[in-house]
Amino acid sequence: MTENSKLSIGQIYNNNEIMQAFKVANSGGIRYSKTTQCVVIFSFRYTTNAKEMPYQDQWVGDVIHYTGQGMEGDQTLTRNNKVLANSSEKAIQIHLFEAFVKGENIYRGQGRLIDQPYTVSELDKNGNERIVYKFPIQINDQQNSLDERLLREVDNKEKQIVRKLDDATVQRYAKEASRLNQEIVDEKPALTASYREVTSQQFERNPYIARYVKDLSHGFCALCGQPAPFIDQQGIPFLHSHHVQYLSQGGHDTINNCIAVCPNCHARIHTLEDPKDKQILLDKIANRKSII
Ligand SMILES: [Zn+2]
Ligand SMILES: [Zn+2]
Repeated sequence: MTENSKLSIGQIYNNNEIMQAFKVANSGGIRYSKTTQCVVIFSFRYTTNAKEMPYQDQWVGDVIHYTGQGMEGDQTLTRNNKVLANSSEKAIQIHLFEAFVKGENIYRGQGRLIDQPYTVSELDKNGNERIVYKFPIQINDQQNSLDERLLREVDNKEKQIVRKLDDATVQRYAKEASRLNQEIVDEKPALTASYREVTSQQFERNPYIARYVKDLSHGFCALCGQPAPFIDQQGIPFLHSHHVQYLSQGGHDTINNCIAVCPNCHARIHTLEDPKDKQILLDKIANRKSII
């Protein structure tokens, strides 16, 4: 039994525990150990720098489109990016941790690169457009679902972070996330065509997009036209962000596929799947396009 197989999927580990388990360095988003032939990758989902777009890695089903190393300027396929790119042929294991709170790294399990890395344009920490590498890494089937309680915690933490941001920042992040999600779909149609059902789909996907479409609704449900049933502790009307074309049916996690609805209408939409309801939402989105 190797050291790292003692780690449990969905459990939280601190930096020391990860260093010991994989014999990796103490910092960096991608850490390689020659000794254990493992590359440990971190998906940091908390805001580390206000100037930085903090939501760069995209999940599409059980595949994470993982962003390479390099904070400024164009990324290159060198050093740790090269290790990751060659991981399959060199039989190097990839292990993923996700952190929504600094120091609380959730072990997501082992993954494998399922296609060549590809490039997209993304903002760097100075807000300049640059080239980044995306590594499509599939997290092993039986291991990809986090337990419900943990997911809910993570979902709440994300919402707390996003709630604190001002409207303009939310808009900027939402538009960037939306554009990038679309770019990845365009870039990799084969990889993103089928969307496996995973537990996390019942949660809102990109929190910036979810908050932004709620801001756009001004507190009213797009289907029944009624105000949100209540205002939450942060003073934000309580609505759900709904993907008009379901993610499970190839819909995209983009602004133009999301709209805010009240919880009742949300249940109605998913229960009845009435084409008339869907058309109302599509019309609302079409009208909304002129103002965003
Ligand atoms: Zn409603
Ligand atoms: Zn929905």
